[in-house]
Amino acid sequence: MKLKIVGSGGMSIIPSSFCECGLCREAREKGGRYERLGPSLYIEDIQMLIDTPEDIAVACNRQNISKVKHLSISHCDPDHVKGIRIVEKIGYDFIKEKSTPVGFYALPEVIADINRMNLDCLKYYGDVLHCIDVHETSHIEIEHISIDMVNHNPDRNITFYIIREGTKKAVYACCNPKPFAHNDLYFDADIFILSLVSDNGILNDGMRLADAPFKDEIFTLDEVMELKKYYRIKKIIVTHIDEIWGKSYGYYQELEKQLDGISFAYDGMEILI
Ligand SMILES: [Zn+2]
Ligand SMILES: [Zn+2]
Repeated sequence: MKLKIVGSGGMSIIPSSFCECGLCREAREKGGRYERLGPSLYIEDIQMLIDTPEDIAVACNRQNISKVKHLSISHCDPDHVKGIRIVEKIGYDFIKEKSTPVGFYALPEVIADINRMNLDCLKYYGDVLHCIDVHETSHIEIEHISIDMVNHNPDRNITFYIIREGTKKAVYACCNPKPFAHNDLYFDADIFILSLVSDNGILNDGMRLADAPFKDEIFTLDEVMELKKYYRIKKIIVTHIDEIWGKSYGYYQELEKQLDGISFAYDGMEILI
């Protein structure tokens, strides 16, 4: 199985527009892996994209992703949905007025949330433009890949993806993993891609995470290590790396040298299982 982190950023990309912080200035100067676009994952084997942040069209160009046959969106937050317009280009020819729909798969409650918050966009793309073929489901089988979609946080309807090929297993926990609800499906994953981790508890402006209003939604590194041990996970890859954490690609490169089986995503990272 081959996965690619299309975008490793969070709700604000790096560099953030208008921002003059050190992290954003460094990213503007160095480019490449110092830049992070919005959070999304591509399953190369079946040409499936998970999530469409607003910059997904740019991210696909950067990462040489030329084909999307299948699409899923994890939940209704703007940093995962607002690039949904890519389905117009992928699934509809405006010159010939001809549609070739892309398979769209999501939990029923997530589809309802996305429609409610985005002017019924999935209904429009499915029923009017016919550029997506909407499947309300919690399980997908495409070729040799199977995917279970778990509603990890029923208060907010956040989907976690358990992606399997034979005995190989990857989990994509793309956003809002806390409070962390147990699921047997997480055991013995080869790779667990986890979002929202503040490594040292100090935010971009110097404020302590412990004093921030969102403190209970963010993992600390100690908690990540506990999770790894409890679920017997071989490797954790941290993604959804927000500008507000204030840490650069170079910083994470040094940090991961000190950690056992924990690494930090970057845009274009390839994951072979
Ligand atoms: Zn900044
Ligand atoms: Zn998010």
